[in-house]
Amino acid sequence: MKAIVIGAGLIGLTTAFELSKAGIEVEVVERSVVGSGASRGNAGEICPEQATPVAKLALIVSALSQAYRKDSALHVNVGTLPGYLPFLLRVARNSLPRRYSENQSALAEIQDLAMSAFLELAEEVGLEASSDGYLSVFADEQSAREGRQSTLKRTSGSGIPHTVSEVLGPRDLVEIEPSLNAHGYGFLDEGSYYTNPINYVEALHQHLLEAGVSIHEGVTVTSVTDFEGRQRVRASNAHFDADAVVVAAGVGTADIASASGKPVPIRPGKGYSFTIDVPHPTSHIFKFDSAHVAGMPLAGNSLRIAGTMEFDSDAHRFNSDRIKQIVAAVAPYLPEEALRNRYNEWVGARPLTPDGLPIISKLPSLQNTYVASGHNMLGLMLSPFTARAVRDMVLGHSTSSARRFSASRRF
Ligand SMILES: Cc1cc2nc3c(=O)[nH]c(=O)nc-3n(C[C@H](O)[C@H](O)[C@H](O)COP(=O)(O)OP(=O)(O)OC[C@H]3O[C@@H](n4cnc5c(N)ncnc54)[C@H](O)[C@@H]3O)c2cc1C
Repeated sequence: MKAIVIGAGLIGLTTAFELSKAGIEVEVVERSVVGSGASRGNAGEICPEQATPVAKLALIVSALSQAYRKDSALHVNVGTLPGYLPFLLRVARNSLPRRYSENQSALAEIQDLAMSAFLELAEEVGLEASSDGYLSVFADEQSAREGRQSTLKRTSGSGIPHTVSEVLGPRDLVEIEPSLNAHGYGFLDEGSYYTNPINYVEALHQHLLEAGVSIHEGVTVTSVTDFEGRQRVRASNAHFDADAVVVAAGVGTADIASASGKPVPIRPGKGYSFTIDVPHPTSHIFKFDSAHVAGMPLAGNSLRIAGTMEFDSDAHRFNSDRIKQIVAAVAPYLPEEALRNRYNEWVGARPLTPDGLPIISKLPSLQNTYVASGHNMLGLMLSPFTARAVRDMVLGHSTSSARRFSASRRF
């Protein structure tokens, strides 16, 4: 059996890895280069037990009330708002309490499977996943208390053990992470994992090359069709035939699925990140919670700062105001000089769906083509779970764990 995977982001790479391990001949077709979408510059959080659907009432309220403000964590590019309206209406429907709780329980159902799939894959490809945990920091004590309560609530029913500290004051925070300014209140959540996404992309890439998987870079796929009992992947200047196809093209999935007979509602939700060098090595993920910004330890004294959500139909356009918004949000907590000397500024588009759940499903318009996309803010942590579910679909095995993620559900 031969399979083509479209897209060499984390979802495409892990899927190719699982398919290849199952004895399937795999080729990957990538528009740009491996890991060029949202996969390298993200925050590296692995906490499926804390994941919530992005479709929240608060998002809609925020979109309507403050999205045009330059200092808001959520920003809408004015020119592209009309294109987002049908999507936002669906987000609004999914924010209603009953739908939100159904979507939340769909994520809760898979949290333990997702976590064990991640840890097993990490071990297999030699990827380090740290469980030192997250240090959440808030501007005031009351917000820290509320944040702690909601973390306790989200982690209490999970099979992944957590230890959540009492609320900590400015001096306690600096004792745990000496690179922080003595400002704010917070708590330590030990048990949540993180990994370096660059290492993850590279480990998978290396394993695929060693397994003999061909990766065609610089090839833009336009559509997939049924062709003489097989699947034909049409690209700008070539075509590829296979027994099965997996569309894992991140935000590019929408155009491919539409041209292949089954539109799927995926829109870009752009995030930004940059790197700073702080005075001391760090070992926890920082969650600057009221600002919706995360800080992830990289090698040495480097820290990646990532956050913001921008609705803009141009997934690649770089808006330096968004970087400034992140810098302003974390300025009270991190050394001014480090922020001034930031580098590796990056933009990546999260593939958003209106209900905040991924699409892991057969594409109903075609004989043997599958979609693995729409992972919103959860693509890194759900990639091994997704890859296993897609592998089982391609092999015709039962995939009950992915039943809530159909391309035909009511979004
Ligand atoms: C700032 C930020 C922070 C984040 N933090 C986290 C986190 O802490 N934890 C977490 O789990 N997730 C996080 N995410 C989300 C995560 O990065 C995404 O969900 C994930 O990268 C999606 O992976 P993907 O493979 O579906 O898409 P991508 O990584 O975007 O990969 C898609 C690939 O498909 C290619 N492609 C597109 N169109 C075509 C085409 N027509 N033909 C061929 N190839 C094509 C692209 O070039 C790209 O390489 C974050 C995202 C951002 C932006």
